[in-house]
Amino acid sequence: MRALQLIADRKLELADVPNPPPPGDGEVQIRIKAVALNHLDLWGFRGMAFTKRQLPLVVGAEASGELAAVGPGVSGFKAGDKVVMYGAMTCGHCAACREGRDNLCENVAGIMGFHIDGFARDLINLPARLTIPVPAGVSLRDAACAPIAFGTVEHMLFDNAKLKPGETVLVHAGGSGIGSVAIKMAKSIGCTVITTVGDDAKAQKAKALGADYVINYKTERFEGVTRKLTAKKGVDVVFEHVGGEGFNASLFCLKRGGRLVTCGSTAGPNVTINLMQLFQQQYKIFGSFGASIRNIRDSLSKIATGMTPIIDTEVALADFERGLARLESRQVFGKVVVNF
Ligand SMILES: [Zn+2]
Repeated sequence: MRALQLIADRKLELADVPNPPPPGDGEVQIRIKAVALNHLDLWGFRGMAFTKRQLPLVVGAEASGELAAVGPGVSGFKAGDKVVMYGAMTCGHCAACREGRDNLCENVAGIMGFHIDGFARDLINLPARLTIPVPAGVSLRDAACAPIAFGTVEHMLFDNAKLKPGETVLVHAGGSGIGSVAIKMAKSIGCTVITTVGDDAKAQKAKALGADYVINYKTERFEGVTRKLTAKKGVDVVFEHVGGEGFNASLFCLKRGGRLVTCGSTAGPNVTINLMQLFQQQYKIFGSFGASIRNIRDSLSKIATGMTPIIDTEVALADFERGLARLESRQVFGKVVVNF
């Protein structure tokens, strides 16, 4: 079978590897149908010095597929079922796992496609508990965007920032995979959405997604425009994943007691925060990473009822690197999906 392996920083190789053995106790065997790309894949591809991993490493962190076989002791699944997969190898028995806080697993073995072998291969055996059924009517292409893009946003907006109907939210990088999902999720509960984009063509697309106000951060200071749009009050929630110099500007966009939730730092991981501002303004800052299996189920339900992902580009497995280049170029609007 095929497996797309990272063999060195920025070097991918499509290898021919043996099929996995029949699924063991509690396992299912999945035929991968689509892998969706995320910024995480780009980090892994470029190489990150602080990441413990062994090369070659099968890439791909977010995926969907069809069950090829079901191992002993697995109930509720049968061959042919469409599924998505949880993107980290959790233990399934620690307190966090038992309580459904999967992304806080105390014994996690790693993120698929980043620390340990991922999904960009024809077949994989996984514990059945890490697979989530795809509702009828949802394509495997769209389902592939549920575990990370949708799941992460669901976790950020609703578990962490506790976004409520009627609130105002600033969504950074509305054209990114998660930004485009955040606009849709916030609008679906009746929020007012302000979003930032890097060019005017993306502004039109963000409006089409339902954003109420779009700011081109290259031509205007987003914090000034946001304060003006909110009559100097600020927004209830900032959806952040950029970091760098924009982080403090994002804090400046919050109303007193506002919440900032972040899951990324594409513009740089180090910032200086004014603690007096933090406590006097009673800001709440949430770090968020990944999602729970419940978040992924809820995401699939949303996709099934019409909140479909925005797909920027579809490529074949052999063109995985072209998909990554599209992400890296920042020209992307929505998700890049690799089809098998
Ligand atoms: Zn665990």
